[in-house]
Amino acid sequence: MPAKELSPIEIYRGLPGTNCKDCGEANCMAFAAKLVNREATLEECKPLLDPGKAESYNKLWALLKPAVKAVEVGVGDNKLILGGEYVLYRHEFTYFHQPAMAVDVGDEMGDEEFETRVHVLNDFSYDYIGMKLSLDMLAVRSTSGDPSKFGEAVKKAAELTRKPLMLCALDPAVMEAGLDAAADRRPLIYAATRDNWQKMAELALKHSCPLVASSPMDLDGLKSLALTLEAYGIKDIVLDPGTAPTEYMGANLDTFTILRWDAINGEEEGLGYPLMGAPIAAWTAPAEDPVLHEWSEAQLAAALITRFTDIIVVHGISGWALLPQVFLRSNLYTDPRKPVSVEAGLMPIGNPTEDSPVLLTTNFALTYYTVASDIEGAKVDSYLLVVDSEGMSVESAVAGRKMTAETVAEAITNSKVSEKVKHRSLIIPGRAARLSGEIQELSGWNVAVGPMDSSGIASYVSDKWKPYPEG
Ligand code: SF4
Repeated sequence: MPAKELSPIEIYRGLPGTNCKDCGEANCMAFAAKLVNREATLEECKPLLDPGKAESYNKLWALLKPAVKAVEVGVGDNKLILGGEYVLYRHEFTYFHQPAMAVDVGDEMGDEEFETRVHVLNDFSYDYIGMKLSLDMLAVRSTSGDPSKFGEAVKKAAELTRKPLMLCALDPAVMEAGLDAAADRRPLIYAATRDNWQKMAELALKHSCPLVASSPMDLDGLKSLALTLEAYGIKDIVLDPGTAPTEYMGANLDTFTILRWDAINGEEEGLGYPLMGAPIAAWTAPAEDPVLHEWSEAQLAAALITRFTDIIVVHGISGWALLPQVFLRSNLYTDPRKPVSVEAGLMPIGNPTEDSPVLLTTNFALTYYTVASDIEGAKVDSYLLVVDSEGMSVESAVAGRKMTAETVAEAITNSKVSEKVKHRSLIIPGRAARLSGEIQELSGWNVAVGPMDSSGIASYVSDKWKPYPEG
């Protein structure tokens, strides 16, 4: 049953119904509501784990399990979950696990190139509205076909990074050498094909590793391969339907959409697994300039991130190519049920004194970080009063009455800002101008209407703002 159609009552019927509070909720119905929102797991209801309740547990598990299986790669703190999704489109519920981004290294690369690429993987980090955007995995490829070279490369990769690994070789003997070097890291094995599936499946079972089923440009073959692997006992499968170079973008989008649609709607057996996209395929197209390859790869990656992939493998490591991909990914995979917000309160910026300006904004994360970084960048020592607007931007919060004169006056009092500054002058955003009179009346503070855009704060403060207007 699609996640959006599940009701707490259906789940409640399967719970023990004793209202014992062991799960931390006031009663079983409250726990059922959390389960429906996937904010709790069945394991938190201890009475349900009693062997006598196995039938109820299994029924509930079948109702609550994601349409796309959650597959774990890696171990410990660096473990990643691929898939685990319930819906086709985010607005129908939410997405849970953003696609992992893997960069590749090859077993014939020189030490310098190999190490540089791993360091880019390890060090890539960008602070974006309170989130740290980073890369996730290292794909070690056998280009030599030589087991010992591959084993050495995997060993080196495992020493250089703690991030999860993906081992790429189609020859089972080569894969075995790679697994000998890093099976304890639970790498993703790439790949089982129609020709090698049995030996790859045996390796996956022996080392308890997830396995990619690969059948490029052949969806029937992919489904058949996945079902064969399932029957052989493989539980953690990732599907690779093949990724064509950029000129076949339409075919790529169709393929990934069909696969995910079928998985979510339960139309086909064997397709409820994470999907792997390989924008790295862009490098196989003829082009004289590697920048063109990287540009095509970034386009492919962006398209596949929007089209349900759960892991993508890229070769380009330039910031201009990677940054848009991680931005897109983080924007798409935020939870639409929860506004992206920061804590409300009084934030000192720089080294404010008792004569420094006090500026007002809302707790929508994008608004807050934009305003704070504009003020910081302009080196305006100040206090930023952040009002709880339930995660709405200034304009929407004013229009939707999530920021009113009352909430601003309350924030002034609760923040104790009057103990920090001598003056009583508040700069409000230009987009909240219509609240100025009311705020002044309710708070007793002088209200100055600042610029419409926070990029104008520095010049506003230096040219127009007076802490003591009457003085
Ligand atoms: S632990 Fe289980 S039985 Fe007890 S209140 Fe929670 S859901 Fe109900």
